[in-house]
Amino acid sequence: MADLGTTQLSEKCAVFGVYGPDDGASRVTYYGLWALQHRGQESSGIATSDTKKIHRYTADGLVAHVYKNEDLDKLPGGISIGHNRYATSGGSGADLNQPFVDQKLQFSFAHNGNLPDTTKLEEFLKKHKVSTKDFNDSCMMFAAIGVYVKQGLALDAAIKKAFPLFTGVFSAVAMDNNQLVAFRDQCGVRPLSIATTDDAFVVASETCAFDTIGATFLRDVLPGEMVIVDKDGLRSEQIVKGKQKLDIFEFVYFARPDSVLMGQRVNSVRERFGVEMAKEFPIDADVIVPIPDSAVPAAIGYAQASGIPFNTGLIKNRYIHRTFIQPTAELRKRDVKMKLNPVSDVMADKRVVLVDDSIVRGTTMRQVIQMVRDAGAKEVHILISSPPVRFPDFYGINTPDQSDLIAARQTVQEIREYLSADSLHFLSYDGMVEATHLPHSIFSLSCFDGVYPVDIGERAKDFEKLQVVNKTTSAIEGQTELFEEDQPILETHQALA
Ligand code: AMP
Repeated sequence: MADLGTTQLSEKCAVFGVYGPDDGASRVTYYGLWALQHRGQESSGIATSDTKKIHRYTADGLVAHVYKNEDLDKLPGGISIGHNRYATSGGSGADLNQPFVDQKLQFSFAHNGNLPDTTKLEEFLKKHKVSTKDFNDSCMMFAAIGVYVKQGLALDAAIKKAFPLFTGVFSAVAMDNNQLVAFRDQCGVRPLSIATTDDAFVVASETCAFDTIGATFLRDVLPGEMVIVDKDGLRSEQIVKGKQKLDIFEFVYFARPDSVLMGQRVNSVRERFGVEMAKEFPIDADVIVPIPDSAVPAAIGYAQASGIPFNTGLIKNRYIHRTFIQPTAELRKRDVKMKLNPVSDVMADKRVVLVDDSIVRGTTMRQVIQMVRDAGAKEVHILISSPPVRFPDFYGINTPDQSDLIAARQTVQEIREYLSADSLHFLSYDGMVEATHLPHSIFSLSCFDGVYPVDIGERAKDFEKLQVVNKTTSAIEGQTELFEEDQPILETHQALA
């Protein structure tokens, strides 16, 4: 088994896999990971099999920096899996880079998601004399599969046997010298899709990776399903009965707009968020400005529906990646300035509507509003294309503790005041779901409603159940009467970052 490092860290990432006849699987994986860069920027890794031996290369950094031609040349074979890791505040280190490879047992594994409860896994590994010291959830999954491979089971059989030990969220890929395996938790909280090329099968976290490599989308891996590709082609086993609960935050923020989730183009859904907001919150304004990049489609949707012109009032430095991943509030603050610059001509003396996809801690928006006021805006109205984030995530997106979520501690009016906005409007819960054109029942909306469809075990103690506000949530300066119901908020008010 690989040395799995010393830092506790849960993974939220991109996975990719390919099974083909050629020797070039590593390059296909490389381009796939490139397309999936938005899902993780801390490190990247590729494992390949030449049918006799597994090879692996990983390093910290962006895909463009991690691999040189010679690194890919050293990854021969037609089977490959790859992984981009999403940074968290928990720590980092090359030892945690995925895919993990067990050279003795000759298999490899990579995971997107998070297991909030590893009790069963830990007990199992202890029983089989595997020390879990310093293991994170992904390491434990890898080790548990290894226990069964060691007993002589083929990789797919070992995964099937270990599957009931995995309490949590996983869209995972694995391979040995014969097969590529992809499997998904019973709720399919994180996406995972399959595609084909003339002579290969491909799996990826998001369909945008298929476009990049010229593969044709086949279907999603179903919740609770395991898909196996080997020399006989593709076959599938439904390991447990599935109940689709895709994390709606994939539509709100995480997925790339050109990806298709559950048959819906992410870009179109985000535009419809904007159209819904125009229905819910008509505002008298001169210009609609998105906070790039994720809010652009919602801003376009609002502009089209309202007739107010859209303009690029904030320019994003393309070479700075997502700010959220910086570990401290201080660093995040500096990062916003490095990342965004206002175009004052667009906003000076104007009533500006700023659109963003979400408010988490409130750090980004507070600084952006100041920036926009400094650029001469007369009024600054805020539209958020999702409801207030009031519950922590346990399923693989790095939202902070509940006490750091501004909407868990403050009413919408208090948030508006903290942000110094003229008005603040959050898309309603129902409006958000409606805009997806998908039924409510297929979603996990846990960060908005605190309902966790996959067991979170002991972590249930880590948050307080707040009343869910289904109605439109708005606050306008000078208006004492709020549109929202009074929300109970967390007792533990902490100084704002
Ligand atoms: P905050 O400053 O904490 O309120 O962060 C809100 C900003 O972070 C918004 O502009 C979002 O686009 C972005 N964001 C929301 N969720 C995430 C996430 N899980 N990872 C990275 N960025 C996020």
